[in-house]
Amino acid sequence: MNIHTFQLGPLQTNCYIIANSETKEALIIDAGMSPGELLDAAGPYTVKAVLLTHAHFDHMGGLEQIRNKVKAPVYIHPNEQEWLGNADLNGSSRWPMIGGAMTAQPAEHELHDEDVLELAGFTIRVMETPGHSPGSLSFLIEDHVFSGDALFNRSIGRTDLPGGNYEQLITSIHDKLMELPDETSVHPGHGPATTIGEEKLYNPFVSGIMG
Ligand SMILES: [Zn+2]
Ligand SMILES: [Zn+2]
Repeated sequence: MNIHTFQLGPLQTNCYIIANSETKEALIIDAGMSPGELLDAAGPYTVKAVLLTHAHFDHMGGLEQIRNKVKAPVYIHPNEQEWLGNADLNGSSRWPMIGGAMTAQPAEHELHDEDVLELAGFTIRVMETPGHSPGSLSFLIEDHVFSGDALFNRSIGRTDLPGGNYEQLITSIHDKLMELPDETSVHPGHGPATTIGEEKLYNPFVSGIMG
């Protein structure tokens, strides 16, 4: 399992290629704006899926460009299926200076808590981690979790956008993400990677809720 990280667009959104060098297959997690660099790196692989942690524009603004190139099905939580086609819901209309209204076609598949996918030779465990947005998902692949904008290195996602809920986010982090083994690597939607164990110790939003 090879993890390639790309910081795409003006918000430096972490988007990932999870590559299987044996099968020459790969997954893409999140579809940030201006994904050319990611698409170049995905070139040698057959991309089996584009998994979206959530549908804020900085995670879906490049979706149609990625789809046109890799022709892979897109997966999202049903709570944010409609957001892909609605620039008010995905937030792109709120910040016109960033790029203007962004929309994409609906996702081919919807994901729910505890779904298990077998794609590109990997087992992907789906975790609902709402709070930053109502359909936020985290994806566990082996001992790596891709946490979107729920959990960051030493911080957590904002909850002041439509559908955000601070209590719900804290519950998601405490009951879902912090239940993972300490050595689990965390690959967030923005900023540097970390581990569950480090965040238990050093994340001020997490250490206060761990009893
Ligand atoms: Zn977000
Ligand atoms: Zn984001």
